[in-house]
Amino acid sequence: MRGGTKSRRVRASAEWVERPAPELSIVDAELWERVQARRTATGATFLRRMNGRLIGRPSGADVESPYLLSGIAECGECGGSLVAMMRSHGRQRMPFYGCLRYHKRGLHPCRNGLQIRQSVLDAALLDVLSAALEPDVIAESIDVAVAELRAGKGHGRAKSGYA
Ligand SMILES: [Zn+2]
Repeated sequence: MRGGTKSRRVRASAEWVERPAPELSIVDAELWERVQARRTATGATFLRRMNGRLIGRPSGADVESPYLLSGIAECGECGGSLVAMMRSHGRQRMPFYGCLRYHKRGLHPCRNGLQIRQSVLDAALLDVLSAALEPDVIAESIDVAVAELRAGKGHGRAKSGYA
């Protein structure tokens, strides 16, 4: 009580009195341990950029996936994961990529309902990748990097507009 009114103050954690209260727990200890192990394993699986930022994020689907881009590609609208989902196409059922946040309609649903056939998006990405890995392009990149090193520019990235 201060000046006739109740007030709260922060108590140092060293002064806290702790006692086990299993009857109040929301999840049991075994499930908690399994979730922590899963989070650790998933975090170790995803690629990281040089600065440690994660490339892609857990999609909620299994980490091993037959779909090239599931959990790696991002939705252009909300930045959430694209995941593969089976859809009817004529008489066949085939995998399409779509935004997970649109599909799950959670707390912050995405408005991007666009879906693209897995084979179409995978092929487009592989085309771009294979073009970028042409021997001529790689050789040119090495030449530029060597020229920059010789010019004393250190580890600078290759600039656009090659000489
Ligand atoms: Zn989205």
